Amino acid sequence: MCGALRAADAGKKATLMGWVNKRRDLGSLIFVDLRDRTGITQVVINAERDAAIHEKTEALHHEYVIAVTGTVKLRDASTVNKNLATGEVELVAEELRVLNESKLPPFLPSDTALTNEETRLKYRYIDLRRDAMQFNIELRHKVAKAIRDYLSGQGFFEIETPFMTRSTPEGARDYLVPSRVQPGTFYALPQSPQMFKQILMISGFDKYFQIVRCFRDEDLRADRQPEFTQIDLEMSYPQPETVWEVVEGFLTAAFKAAGFTIKTPFPRMDYDEAIRLYGIDKPDLRLPAFTDVRECFTAENLQELAVNPNLPVVAIRTPKVGELSRAERDSIKPLFISKGGARVFEDFKRIEKKFPEAAAKISAKAAIESGDLVVLVVGSGGMGEAFSNRKVTPQELAIYASAGALRLALAQKYAERHGIFKKTGDAAKDYRFLWVTNFPMFEWDEGEKTWNAAHHPFTSPHEEDMSKLETGVESLHDPLSPLSSVRALAYDVVLNGTELGSGSIRIHRQDVQSRIFRALGMTDEEARARFGFFLEALEYGTPPHGGIALGLDRIVMILAGAESLREVIPFPKTARAVDLMVDAPTPVSEAQLKELGIAIRKARE
Ligand code: ASP
Repeated sequence: MCGALRAADAGKKATLMGWVNKRRDLGSLIFVDLRDRTGITQVVINAERDAAIHEKTEALHHEYVIAVTGTVKLRDASTVNKNLATGEVELVAEELRVLNESKLPPFLPSDTALTNEETRLKYRYIDLRRDAMQFNIELRHKVAKAIRDYLSGQGFFEIETPFMTRSTPEGARDYLVPSRVQPGTFYALPQSPQMFKQILMISGFDKYFQIVRCFRDEDLRADRQPEFTQIDLEMSYPQPETVWEVVEGFLTAAFKAAGFTIKTPFPRMDYDEAIRLYGIDKPDLRLPAFTDVRECFTAENLQELAVNPNLPVVAIRTPKVGELSRAERDSIKPLFISKGGARVFEDFKRIEKKFPEAAAKISAKAAIESGDLVVLVVGSGGMGEAFSNRKVTPQELAIYASAGALRLALAQKYAERHGIFKKTGDAAKDYRFLWVTNFPMFEWDEGEKTWNAAHHPFTSPHEEDMSKLETGVESLHDPLSPLSSVRALAYDVVLNGTELGSGSIRIHRQDVQSRIFRALGMTDEEARARFGFFLEALEYGTPPHGGIALGLDRIVMILAGAESLREVIPFPKTARAVDLMVDAPTPVSEAQLKELGIAIRKARE
């Protein structure tokens, strides 16, 4: 192994096999850096000692695969390479064989400057030889193994579920696989193993997990791939806390495998509180929360500022930004995206000048320190009366959500100054986990004027909210219907502003499940057509159960300090869902289509 030789091996014979990472020709002496997965060893070929090997070495080029046998020798003190684990020794070649030649690759694994991503993905096998990729893929292996070991130790069984199956309602589009045997019918690739894992609870496997591929046909972003890997689990008879403990346990093991210690239990926060304090359901706790400073203003102040006095006045504090120039202050406003009429006061100096008393109160209440940037987000008159069944009304939500997005945009803009997002030093180890709980059960779809499941329709509502499910047809299309205030026994685990996973306690009674389908506007016939097998299974002694799924790719991406999921997935797809290496997807032959009974319509414009 090229990375294993140490000073203690001096004098021993060794055979190394690997790639020619670099060759330096000093006339009678040639140095070859030989590389494999474990590292690099310097090989020395001395022309004076062995002309035949020397000649072979002269023909070596980058990425040739060779085998070298020789004697391990201590390097002179002056040539010790402290940056290399094997830097105290070198291998003096006595025999050399070229196992395979290599064309000159489009880029070299040893290049310090990265080539463009398209080339990297097309020649992924070369890209994967790079140190950083070798590190990431090894890290992924270690993390997955730590999770497997932990869960197995807790009595979970890893059980596989089918890939060729039928649609699961996770809210994305399905990837479909046509059936040849039954033309005109399709399997769906699973968006998650949700129904299977619930069926496994009905089948008596009371602790299930799987590190499993899921498939969702969505528009892609840096942290999304059409196929991605979930750590999926389910257990019988849990409270939410039971699931949280298991997750905290395996995350502790996973982070330990990557060399980090994390603190458990993670803090917990209601969805409503997350919205009020951070304007988002996946708060980044490394940044300060909002402060509602409405009471710092008098009624006259608010009137003068044309601020809606019935809605919160949100102060966003971004630490350590320092003095801003006029132009810098002007560049804040374009970052603000107003939802539902929310407004921004980006120039706190003007508030200080005009309303010194209010400003002093705000400084005290929001614990503003010198150098902090303070921006206010407020409601306007046009936002109307706050009226809803929800604790956070739609008008309040508009303000909080606008402020939440601005809070993150400001933190990004001034990241250099506050250093909170740094990927080195202590900042890189600041892992702030959080459980967000008690999500609303339903989400209003303004376009369709209907209610959708906020998580998925197998999530159990709170026991106390069950009666609100008995609604008439008209309330299915009413944003103010009692459905709006039904809370779900759902939870998300969040890390530094990233949702790592979500889960819930499930519905285990067929009658409740049918009621939820009805509340989602599905007739009993439709529900039976889509989920009949599942509704039937629920009638055969289903134990109470619950679970969660976490994104493995995201976890590894965070642990690797990587910017994109593509850095931690061996063979990822581009933002257009293309695999550039194998060149997929591709058209298929007419004969194949015929066999499947499929005709291609005119391609979409
Ligand atoms: N199946 C869910 C998802 O993929 C997770 C769960 O509820 O366990 O988001």
